[in-house]
Amino acid sequence: MNHFLYPQYSHGGRNPAQDLLWSVSVRATSTRISIVEALMEEKAPVSINVLCSILQKKAPKISQASVYRTLELLVESGVVSRVNMGQMQNSYEILHGKKHHHHIICSECGDIEDIETCPARSMSDYLAQNSKKFDAIHGHSLEFFGRCKKCA
Ligand SMILES: [Zn+2]
Ligand SMILES: [Zn+2]
Ligand SMILES: [Zn+2]
Repeated sequence: MNHFLYPQYSHGGRNPAQDLLWSVSVRATSTRISIVEALMEEKAPVSINVLCSILQKKAPKISQASVYRTLELLVESGVVSRVNMGQMQNSYEILHGKKHHHHIICSECGDIEDIETCPARSMSDYLAQNSKKFDAIHGHSLEFFGRCKKCA
């Protein structure tokens, strides 16, 4: 077999989705690669419905159930972050290449803006110092809601 015909699947790791899965010791199945690739192409977090319709075109064999399962796995392994959208369906975004950040979410249309600054760091330190049960705080989740300019 001529490996040069398939550079994207070579062991040198030229496929970024595959690399990412390897980096967290998750086996890179074709379903997982397709889902990671689809998420990598999105600039903003996407809901499962949107993700499924993207995948419908790219990889129609993937069932909705395996999209759910794969997302759970990717969230657990730290590759993907789940964004709590309040009243709306949760959304998902790839964490790779992104620093810890937060979102402002439009409660009308679901449009999302990344906020690069973390307003909760000092609060986290404060809580760790004053907690009775915890010595350290590893993370937090915090989203902001509003109405975007289009919906205002
Ligand atoms: Zn809006
Ligand atoms: Zn984001
Ligand atoms: Zn933060």
